[in-house]
Amino acid sequence: MRELIVVVGGGPVGSVLALALQQQNVAFTMLEARAKSASHQDTRALALSYGSRLILEKLGVWDAVQAKATAINTIHISQRGGLGRTKLKASEHNQPALGYVLPYGALTEALDNALELNNIRYAAEATEIKSGEVFAQVAFNQFGESKTLTSALMVVADGGKNLGEIAGIQRETKEYGHDALVSKVRAELPHNNIAYERFTPQGPMALLPNGQDKNSHDFSLVWTGLQANIHKVAGMDDFGFLSQLHEAFGDRVGKFLSVEKRLCFPLKLSTLKPSTAPHLAVIGNAAQTMHPVAGQGFNVGLRDACTLADIIINTPISAMGAAPMLERYSMQRQRDTRGGILFTDLLVNTFSNDLIGLQTIRGAGLGALELFKPAKSFLVNKMSFGK
Ligand SMILES: Cc1cc2nc3c(=O)[nH]c(=O)nc-3n(C[C@H](O)[C@H](O)[C@H](O)COP(=O)(O)OP(=O)(O)OC[C@H]3O[C@@H](n4cnc5c(N)ncnc54)[C@H](O)[C@@H]3O)c2cc1C
Repeated sequence: MRELIVVVGGGPVGSVLALALQQQNVAFTMLEARAKSASHQDTRALALSYGSRLILEKLGVWDAVQAKATAINTIHISQRGGLGRTKLKASEHNQPALGYVLPYGALTEALDNALELNNIRYAAEATEIKSGEVFAQVAFNQFGESKTLTSALMVVADGGKNLGEIAGIQRETKEYGHDALVSKVRAELPHNNIAYERFTPQGPMALLPNGQDKNSHDFSLVWTGLQANIHKVAGMDDFGFLSQLHEAFGDRVGKFLSVEKRLCFPLKLSTLKPSTAPHLAVIGNAAQTMHPVAGQGFNVGLRDACTLADIIINTPISAMGAAPMLERYSMQRQRDTRGGILFTDLLVNTFSNDLIGLQTIRGAGLGALELFKPAKSFLVNKMSFGK
């Protein structure tokens, strides 16, 4: 039997799409490689924009995650060894918060719990996806058995990690030669719901408040830089690591007192060329992987899911997955996705180098941003809603 819609990958982006379809009684099947609760303990911090909170509210899952989310009320942006800094404040932009820090596992748990089990196949790992003129097909393994499903629309939301080449889908990748180190650290001073974005010649670093109480001293750290440098600090003992962090970050939260497990991953910009694969849509990290400097990647992915859900709901079954529908999706997402990519790439290129004179220009830019309210509003809107 042919399915109407198959979603491959039940991470946060695939699950948001699935939930939006479930709530509109649209038939679908989702394949997820992990077991149902396998990701619920993942403490990786996602930086959620205010716009993403509104999406989760509309889907009815915000209440389930709110108690685990830390509000970002202020974003403090500065550069190491140079003048100029700026602050973005929620209170100046009529928002209750500029964004939130949320553990990945808290979000996947809330989404898994909201999804009806009969639509989801857990422990089902896709091995091959083919797009065809009449339908798309996925081969997958579940409990030692090989199976296939065909559908009018196949949505790839696998994070872009595992699936090989799909005919008609071409990826463009730019390696930054940088790694990101992520961990949780405790500092001498409380976070006060402030997120710090610090640009250093070696690469940007972010310190995000991570603890619901503003007096909590816990932060999520994202420290990026040349691979060799990041590997070097990742391999230090805690004392060496914390003093290097203090030197790179400065004194704004006092000394760093402790650090949890450190994870490193390579940074790249990966995007898709215009697709010629019928009956196939690609969303979330599978469609675009960005540098984490501006916390855009996940939020852009959520907006992919919402736009696609809207289009599916408004497409007659006979036209599902056909070229006009896929073109409509691609047109509607183009501007937001390109904007997120350009914005992120520009930040990395402008702020991660030591070129003579650039430091002064950066300082002047940050100083001007501090004084120019429309530019701040533009930035807050871009980060919150992709506009
Ligand atoms: C360490 C780290 C820190 C990050 N920090 C931030 C941040 O602060 N802010 C931010 O906005 N973004 C951040 N990101 C990016 C963010 O994690 C992604 O944008 C987000 O997870 C994308 O969601 P997704 O659902 O598209 O993909 P994923 O979260 O990767 O989910 C993909 C899902 O597909 C499943 N899957 C994979 N292969 C298969 C298969 N073959 N068959 C079936 N299922 C499959 C996986 O099990 C998984 O559940 C970070 C990323 C990393 C790696």
